[in-house]
Amino acid sequence: MTAYTEVMDNYLQARRRMVEEHIAARGVRDPRVLAAMCAIPRHLFVPEGQWHHAHEDHPLPLGEGQTISQPYIVAAMTEALEVTPESKVLEIGTGSGYQTAILAHLAKMVYTVEIIQSLSVRARLALQRLDLRNVRFRIGDGHLGWPEFAPYDRVVVTAAAETMPFPLVEQMSDGGKMVVPVGPVGAQVLTLGVKHGTKLVQRHLMGVAFVPFVHKDEGPGNRG
Ligand code: SAH
Repeated sequence: MTAYTEVMDNYLQARRRMVEEHIAARGVRDPRVLAAMCAIPRHLFVPEGQWHHAHEDHPLPLGEGQTISQPYIVAAMTEALEVTPESKVLEIGTGSGYQTAILAHLAKMVYTVEIIQSLSVRARLALQRLDLRNVRFRIGDGHLGWPEFAPYDRVVVTAAAETMPFPLVEQMSDGGKMVVPVGPVGAQVLTLGVKHGTKLVQRHLMGVAFVPFVHKDEGPGNRG
């Protein structure tokens, strides 16, 4: 056993507890999602000084003013997406790459877009370390999605949008599902959209608090 796997295993108990106490206990049932949350070493996606906090149920700072989402929210969003081993997934807001890794564990292929270069680079290294190869990374503004590889069966946005982002809906396959936090700071609602032909049937899942989806001309440093 390498030093690396020993370090990972030191946190296995912590991950099991996280899944039981913060995720299953709060209503996430999908066994594939729970298994993925047990399998992916979450601490590798937070700064080393925060490893001992990695399994607590709250967001953690990532640097660059961004946060890694709390484990329950990652699990709930992933469950709502109903990712299958055949799914082609588009993720907007790579952040730490933690949800990217969970999605890569469950899906066929993940395409992930992040506006802050340093975060994307770090996430790529973390996924390489876990040997998750079914992921393509892009640095740029995710508002326009990633048309080159469309259509996607599943779309997840991990920053809050003002409205349902329609370029992303256009890049979804028929029957595709999308999970996105919609609304202003303080009143965001996690919304599930299911595409039926030209229609998007929407359902509110729960209230949430995400960092805002930034537009390229604003720059992530210019928010209040
Ligand atoms: N699921 C991620 C969440 C990170 S927070 C995690 O758990 O680590 C949301 C991320 O969205 C941030 O990294 C932020 O930089 C990114 N983001 C915000 N606006 C964006 C945009 N327009 N395009 C792409 N990424 C964006």
